[in-house]
Amino acid sequence: MIATITMPRLLYVGGGALAEVTTALFRLGARRPLIVTDRFMESSGMLARLTDRLDAASIAWRAFSDTVPDPTSDVVEQGVEALRAAPYDSLIALGGGSPIDTAKAMSVLAANGGHMRDYKVPNEIPKLGLPLIAIPTTAGTGSEVTRFTVITDSARDEKMLIMGLACCPAAAIVDYELSLSMPWRLTADTGLDSLTHAIEAYVSRKASPFTDGVAKAAMALIARNIRTACHEPNSRAAREAMMLGATQAGMAFSNASVCLVHGMSRPIGAFFHVPHGLSNAMLLPEITAFSAPAALERYADCARAMGVASEGEGNQAAVARLVDELRALNRDLKVPTPKEYGLAEARYQELLPVMASQALASGSPGNNPRVPSADEIVDLYRRVYA
Ligand code: NAD
Repeated sequence: MIATITMPRLLYVGGGALAEVTTALFRLGARRPLIVTDRFMESSGMLARLTDRLDAASIAWRAFSDTVPDPTSDVVEQGVEALRAAPYDSLIALGGGSPIDTAKAMSVLAANGGHMRDYKVPNEIPKLGLPLIAIPTTAGTGSEVTRFTVITDSARDEKMLIMGLACCPAAAIVDYELSLSMPWRLTADTGLDSLTHAIEAYVSRKASPFTDGVAKAAMALIARNIRTACHEPNSRAAREAMMLGATQAGMAFSNASVCLVHGMSRPIGAFFHVPHGLSNAMLLPEITAFSAPAALERYADCARAMGVASEGEGNQAAVARLVDELRALNRDLKVPTPKEYGLAEARYQELLPVMASQALASGSPGNNPRVPSADEIVDLYRRVYA
């Protein structure tokens, strides 16, 4: 099998890496960036940490700060208008997955025209757009290294997956110091998101020896540090491990795809506005239990990489430990069930067939070791509701 690997051209990784932003711009031949960020980045002074460096290098910039969590096609269109207002030659995204995904979508739409839904998988994106430097502040979606963007179609409330080389940032600046300000809940949700990426990449039918290595490295870092990062937010060692793990998990799933958890998670996010990492975490233990019989050894490897099963332990026992650990993580990190989160039961039940068909249409369940039918997906949605 030949694995095709897509990655940014430049990666700066480590505490203080933000200082490399001007070098990154120059190396990409760019001089005039539009920054894509959100209101919190602006008000918290995080944006100023970036723009001070651009000012010091006499780089003219403007910021589009109107991105929203779980970006919508409407916001992307506003961003494209901002992009057309001046002859920008690059984009810099600063923030969590939402500003990064917005910037990717702006680059795609500005270069190709039409509507965001025109590029929904399996459609191709004909042209590459402006180069993007992605600077994540959560650990994280891994979007800084992935060839995906996830945009909600404002007209249809559908979380669309858009995929291709045009969505891969040209450069990523992975500076864990930007994640030190994350509050407890955000640390837990985004950390669980990256753990899900690593596990799903490893068990995916599209996994390769390349993605296996980074997926296991990511699982080891995240599983050993997620509780510390939540309970000791100033632990630089835990923050550094989580940020690196999130980026490695991004490299893994960008090139091996995600599976059933993500397929089922996106409709929950789109219809009920549950944060992405949280909806993944709600599903992860149950879907792992459902899928594991079809790939016992792969899931057992996950348990070993996470340090919850020993090397010599049999696969069946290791998988049992994995499912136990995922349930324990949800308990320790206070992940609610959909019911506890407040998803109205009648609406949830009513939407199950639509959510199942959107999950299947995304293609992600087809990568799962056990490929579910629509009825099985509905059943899994029912089981996790609790
Ligand atoms: P986010 O970008 O939506 O941010 C959530 C909130 O956290 C925002 O209010 C933001 O201002 C705040 N925040 C961000 N960094 C902070 C910091 N350091 N300190 C304090 N507050 C901070 O959150 P996210 O979970 O990173 O991104 C979720 C989005 O990413 C979803 O839309 C999801 O679909 C997408 N996603 C994309 C990919 C991909 O490969 N493209 C992968 C996974 C998820």
